[in-house]
Amino acid sequence: MKYRKEKDFFSMFNEKTGQYLRSGIICNGKDTGKDPFMASFPELLDIGIMGHCAHGKSGLCIKAGVECYQNGLNSNAPNMALEDFETIAEQCKGNTYQFALGGCGDPDQHESFENILEICRKYDIVPNFTTSGLGMNDEIADLCKKYCGAVAVSWYRSEYTLAAINTLLNHEVKTNIHYVLSKDTVSEAVDRMENDGFPHGVNAIVFLLHKPVGLGRREKDISIDDSDFKKLVALIANKKYPYRIGFDSCTVPGLLNLSNSFDVDSLDTCEGARWSAYISADMKMMPCSFDNQKQKWAVDLRKNTIKEAWYSSEFESFRNCFRCACPNCDKRDACMGGCPIVPEVVLCNREERTKAV
Ligand code: SF4
Ligand code: SF4
Repeated sequence: MKYRKEKDFFSMFNEKTGQYLRSGIICNGKDTGKDPFMASFPELLDIGIMGHCAHGKSGLCIKAGVECYQNGLNSNAPNMALEDFETIAEQCKGNTYQFALGGCGDPDQHESFENILEICRKYDIVPNFTTSGLGMNDEIADLCKKYCGAVAVSWYRSEYTLAAINTLLNHEVKTNIHYVLSKDTVSEAVDRMENDGFPHGVNAIVFLLHKPVGLGRREKDISIDDSDFKKLVALIANKKYPYRIGFDSCTVPGLLNLSNSFDVDSLDTCEGARWSAYISADMKMMPCSFDNQKQKWAVDLRKNTIKEAWYSSEFESFRNCFRCACPNCDKRDACMGGCPIVPEVVLCNREERTKAV
């Protein structure tokens, strides 16, 4: 169990089970129940070790009905250098609980994948990653078992999707499914949740909101009025499943608006620049990987430390979006106005809503 003591709260992370706990703000020795706003250093870092995608040119994601937000069809950038990765890990030792390895492509196809996993453990950080599953094999699954907290397979609806899930499960790797919810896929999600349509043995199904970033098209955005999305939320709020169900924090405004059955304490709104950040293969740090195309809030880690980037004016201006959003809304504290990068995906049509940026 790892423990971080901050000025007026603490957090704990169990590196074996992945369980995470954070106190409320502590005043005079008592937990006030009020959520702290941010950590003094990112607790989770999304690290884009991949600069390009080995399968991108073949349009793997498009064929699978998933529109790569990293624009994998067109990127030729180099993958992150091992020395750069180690510089990051060194700075994170004792501060960051987990790395989510990602970027433009499958992290398990990085030329130094095993070294990257070794470095994570050398600096006492739990690595996790998401893969299309196309390159998954017994050797990689062995590495996952040895080093990773959990591995997510993107729901690409293909033979290789199911094969990768089976390989990981056979190696006793904690395996999740990442399912992108877009206009085209939400009814399938309902159908699968109603009819036991996901493979057995997985740890969790995590629904991720489609965003019009990279290859993601605007017409695929779902709206708060989408009847299938409402059905999905109602199902999940009321039915028990043999696996855990999660949503990315980008979906939280919709969950808050659609159902009173969720325990608000189980929902965390956007964590960008508050608890987590993204570092691209070319060493730019930004509040979230979805800023990688425009890099409006990016800070160069060749000129700044991670700590300096975390307290930079770029990160502060991102946080101010949350601080200032929707002052008259009664869900404000739990929602904070939702995504500052793509406000059009915020699932809210309340009158009290103000524009995030
Ligand atoms: S910044 Fe936007 S895309 Fe990124 S995690 Fe927050 S809500 Fe999601
Ligand atoms: S009005 Fe703003 S804070 Fe309230 S639910 Fe909508 S987006 Fe969230």
